Order: sequence, then structure tokens, then C-alpha cells
Amino acid sequence: MTASSPPARLSLFDLPLDVITLPQTLDRLSGWMFAATRAPHTVVTLNPEFIVQSRTQPEFVRAMQDADLVTADGVGIVYAARQLAGVDVPRAPGFDIVKGLMERHGADLRVFFLGAKPGVAEQAAQNAVRDYGIQVAGIHHGYFGTDEDQRVAELVGASGAHLLLTAMGAGRQEIFNQYWRQILNTPVAIGCGGVIDVLAGTAQLAPDWTRKLGVEWVWRVAGDRKRWNRAPRLAQFVGMVQAEKRRK
Ligand code: UDP
Repeated sequence: MTASSPPARLSLFDLPLDVITLPQTLDRLSGWMFAATRAPHTVVTLNPEFIVQSRTQPEFVRAMQDADLVTADGVGIVYAARQLAGVDVPRAPGFDIVKGLMERHGADLRVFFLGAKPGVAEQAAQNAVRDYGIQVAGIHHGYFGTDEDQRVAELVGASGAHLLLTAMGAGRQEIFNQYWRQILNTPVAIGCGGVIDVLAGTAQLAPDWTRKLGVEWVWRVAGDRKRWNRAPRLAQFVGMVQAEKRRK
């Protein structure tokens, strides 16, 4: 792939998945962010929970199908791509993308922090200014009803952000980014789950060794009681992949 040609795109359970490395992702998003046109783009970092959850949420499926870039967030997706398409897909996790862009562009980058509990996005923004020297385009927590979507989208639209971090939970964040993309008017809007919590220090990134092995989800599920009920979803995902493989 060159900087201008689009990456190869696979289809997993009717969802797109781009075969793209982390450095290629950073190049591509940087190109979008600083293009004179400021055309809006949406980015999804696909994980197994999205696939399971979206089976009963057609709007979530459409938001992912319409996204401009879909990367493999974790090892579960790498496994599914190998099983179903016979392709080794590189990983480009949400946290690494966000950190990579902030490291690369520092003070040139205007970031809008949208999501997490009140106060958390403020802390994330402060830490990002301290650690990367980025500019803060705006801040808003992620606990509002859909009746307030337009107001929040307009706030983002007026902020002049290059990069919108939308961390409001799986589904909600992707649907919001896709539905409001024209009003958001942000060259890159990325759904990035717990990234604002990690930047704020209210959640920890999985240790390096689990990340290197690609098994940080084991650490996350085990270390967080709230997530224990999600383990069956991962088992369900493996079952889905095997059933799909037989069907093919
Ligand atoms: N979150 C939010 N609004 C909501 C639900 C969740 O802003 O209505 C935030 C939550 O505070 C956290 C992030 O979204 O910062 C990811 O939440 P969680 O891990 O529960 O979601 P997942 O992406 O794992 O479904």
C-alpha cells in the first residue's frame, strides 16, 4: 500500500476490516487531518465485542460498514481474519493510534475529548497537554441522551478539532460519529472506548507483556469485575467464528 492508495479490505461477518499496520494508519489519518479540505472521516477499531453486539443492532452494523477505516483492535480480530479469510491482519489498536497521533503532531494537533464520566475527559486533556503538548479543541463527558446529540455534535463542529476522540462505549460511539459526521465536521473521528479513561489515569493500560502477546483482553476481563460478565461474549465469538468457517 502507498500513502494514497486505500488498504486492502476484508469482510468479516459482513463488516469491513482493513489490512493496515499501525504506522500506515498513522500516515493515513495524518493525511486526512491536515488536508486543506477538512473532509470528515470516521475510524472504527474493531474488536470481538463489536461483532457480537452488532448482531442485534443493525444501526451499529451500518455505522461500521460506512466507516472510512476499520482497523483490528486486538488479537480476537486477528484470529477471526486468519480463520475466515486466511489473512494475517496487523493490529492497530485504538490506544496506540491515539497516542501515535499525539506524539507525532504535538502542538499542531487540536483534539476534542468526548466521553467518559464528568471530570475524566478534563483530566485526560490535561495529561495529554502535559505529555504531548497537543491543543485542546474541546471537552465533553459521555453521559447524555440522544436528544442532546445534535447540541454536542454542533459543539464539536464549532471547535476546529482535527481529531475527535469519542469514548462512549461500543456502538453508541460509532453510531454517533457516523450519524453526525457532517455536523461534527472533523477530519478524523475515532471511536475509542476506554482511551479517555486510560489517558486520564482512571483506567490502566494492560501491561506491556500482555500487549506484546496480544492477550491484553485476558488481563482486562480478569482484572475488572464489571467485565466478568463479558467473558461469555468472547466464548460466543469463538463459537461464531467456527460456525461461520463451517458455513463457508
Ligand atoms: N461511557 C460514556 N457514556 C456511556 C457509557 C460509557 O461516556 O453512556 C464511557 C465510559 O465512561 C468509558 C467508555 O465509555 O470511559 C467505555 O466504556 P465501557 O468500557 O463500559 O464500554 P465498552 O466500549 O467496553 O462497551
